[in-house]
Amino acid sequence: MTEQNHFEIVVVGSGPAGFTAAIYAVRGGAATALFGGVAPGGQLLQTMEIENYPGFVDPVVGADLMQKMLKQTQRLGAAVFQESITSADFSARPFRLKASSGKDYTADAVILATGAQAKWLGMPSEEKYKGKGVSGCATCDGFFFRGKEVAVIGGGDTAAEDALFLTKFATKVYLVHRRDALRANFRLQEKLRANPKVEIVYDHIPEEFAGETKLTAVMLKNVKTGAPRRLEVTGAFIAIGHTPATELVKGQLKLDEGGYIVTDDHTATSVPGVYAAGDVMDTRYKQAIVAAGAGCKAALEALAFIEG
Ligand code: NAP
Repeated sequence: MTEQNHFEIVVVGSGPAGFTAAIYAVRGGAATALFGGVAPGGQLLQTMEIENYPGFVDPVVGADLMQKMLKQTQRLGAAVFQESITSADFSARPFRLKASSGKDYTADAVILATGAQAKWLGMPSEEKYKGKGVSGCATCDGFFFRGKEVAVIGGGDTAAEDALFLTKFATKVYLVHRRDALRANFRLQEKLRANPKVEIVYDHIPEEFAGETKLTAVMLKNVKTGAPRRLEVTGAFIAIGHTPATELVKGQLKLDEGGYIVTDDHTATSVPGVYAAGDVMDTRYKQAIVAAGAGCKAALEALAFIEG
């Protein structure tokens, strides 16, 4: 039997958007392949426990949820490749894709669900306490800091929203920003200042995350005076922006100034037959359930496209 190298719909990416797209595509009758990389699952693999994804009475570990989505996708008959797509050519149909194995594939429609990665500061101690107090997702992990003191690092809308969200649980939230003025929009800044639980720490950067097995303190440095400051916190939320994974499509699809794929309301990109779903096109919500919804939309659109 010759190996199949043409699929009606190819999904690139294996977060909630990618798996949902593949599930809908294969159930819509299309020959479907999903390229999920070596460790399928996306950002949720780094999430401690998820309590806001409907359908789970008890918290579900991110990796377990993604494993269920993978098995569901395979059971329905989509071909799931544990390979990445390393290059794509959207200049003619069928679209041409090269996988990390070196094999070439073609597709009548492509759904890009390559996600975005939260930026990290890049310090060894940050890496050490990831999942042990250091988090990249306040919405995912904030609940576990009820009654605790936490810090948020960053000065944009995400950091401001994270800080406000965390006041629901934490007794005190330090918002640590590297400059003397926040980037966050005015309304969010007003809310921050009005919230007695929030202390904005301007002109500081983290130098070190510290603790025994779990985080207990963040060591800061004043960028103007060099003076050190120690925050006794058990949670530190890094909110210094996201990087959408659009390397594959640069120069072929329209991207916004932040590098996100531009789509219309129905997930269509600037190239007919190419759709995008999830964090690679979502500048606003960045939630698993929203990504899954967008994956569903993209698959329905792709099915309509291939049926002409
Ligand atoms: P962002 O706007 O790029 O802000 C990142 C923040 O992190 C900036 O304050 C930046 O400082 C700081 N930062 C970056 N690198 C740093 C480092 N190495 N060390 C310390 N601080 C660092 O990212 P975002 O807040 O995630 O927002 C991304 C986009 O989504 C924006 O367009 C935003 O408006 C949008 N968004 C909108 C909403 C909403 O409308 N409700 C909510 C969330 C996000 P500087 O200020 O000094 O550069």
